[in-house]
Amino acid sequence: MYGRKELGEKVISPGDQWNDGINWKQKLLSDIQTILDEAASCADSEEVAQLRQQVAELQAEVARLQALADQIGPLQQQISDLEATVQQQEQKIATLQAIADQCAGAGVARPRIIDVVDELPHHPTLPPYQKRTEPIRKIVIHHTDTPKNFTVEQIARYHVFGTSPYKDPWPAIGYHYVIAPDGTIYWTERHETRSYHVGAANNYCLGVSLIGRFLIKDYDGSIQPQEDQLPTPAQMESAAHLVAWLMDTLNVPDIENVVGHKEVGQTMCPGDQWLKGVRWKDALHEKIKSYHTGKPVEFYLLFWDHGSNWAQADWQNAQDYIAHFRPTTGFSTADAMMARHVLIVGGPAGVSGEDEARLRSAGCDVHRLAGANEAETKAMLDDLVAHNTLWPGAEPLPPRMGPSAMPEMIPREPPHPDPWTIPDRFVSASFLALPSSTYQRVHVESLIFGQEPGQ
Ligand SMILES: [Zn+2]
Repeated sequence: MYGRKELGEKVISPGDQWNDGINWKQKLLSDIQTILDEAASCADSEEVAQLRQQVAELQAEVARLQALADQIGPLQQQISDLEATVQQQEQKIATLQAIADQCAGAGVARPRIIDVVDELPHHPTLPPYQKRTEPIRKIVIHHTDTPKNFTVEQIARYHVFGTSPYKDPWPAIGYHYVIAPDGTIYWTERHETRSYHVGAANNYCLGVSLIGRFLIKDYDGSIQPQEDQLPTPAQMESAAHLVAWLMDTLNVPDIENVVGHKEVGQTMCPGDQWLKGVRWKDALHEKIKSYHTGKPVEFYLLFWDHGSNWAQADWQNAQDYIAHFRPTTGFSTADAMMARHVLIVGGPAGVSGEDEARLRSAGCDVHRLAGANEAETKAMLDDLVAHNTLWPGAEPLPPRMGPSAMPEMIPREPPHPDPWTIPDRFVSASFLALPSSTYQRVHVESLIFGQEPGQ
């Protein structure tokens, strides 16, 4: 900044005290400097402060992001853990839904089955069984026609190697399933195998055989022990469960297509009380139906229980009824819900009307037996025993096994063994004690006595 007279002109402008005397040039410069300084300090205090603020904020953001970046690894791990948990829970939901569907009758759960198809003996030289050319339309129940202590392997050996006037060696066991007296289910032939068990009907029949003979009178004319005259309860339970599952799996929906061997051929099989006497066909059909309705218990006798106060008198008065029918018996409404039919003993002061309604809404067929007093209730229970009916108005049951029912059910002549009968001596035959290679040789040789394969 200059005064005009400082630029080489012969002038006095801007006055004689510009840069002399008062020297206001200096004052003006000083003022300008002050203003510039003020302006500078102003910029510093606002914009820079703002910028500094922004920088500080950005630095904080950077630090925060850095911290987040450090956490990303663990967070990603956490996310994938949660995703895995979600997947597990979804699987659990699907499983529970399947169980719920089964309980609602959407399908019978597969029973426990031991697959011995490949382990059982197969004939060393005969060609294997052919495959079916028709779908399975009937499920056929057999007895093995052996003592109850026969094993599935012994039965297979007889089918494969055993010979009789009626039977040639077979490629493998004839039955598709065999059920032991303890209820164990053995899978013995693939479903598609057209094995020998019902002659001309083999192409569309699946064979389920229960180990035992189930005859009142044995072939030698002797009366069999009562426990050998019928399948065991465990066998009945497993047979019902297996057949109910097979009906679903093989799409054989009509219970009328679950038949005994004697209904499709000339044979004693599966014993003399399948259609007569105890009629265990009916019992098996009822049990199979109960698997399809999701109610595994057929009948439940329900007593009341209020803790220390319970149906003690009714319980004692029902002993003849319990001895006669041997029902599933208890004190739990929740357990009774698993039964198709429930008989409540005593009035609503015991098992309440609400519980009765709960049983009905669970799909049970509910009946109540309540006299004006305990003596009257006992008389009603005894009356049911006398009429062999489980609840008032029920159909009478088939006559029970027992001395009074025996005479008319005993066949006058012992039955004749049929082509499917396994001789009892097969179990004690000396060749069973020989090493299996010798055993096979002996029986392969016996093939020379064979005719056309009996089916
Ligand atoms: Zn049979």
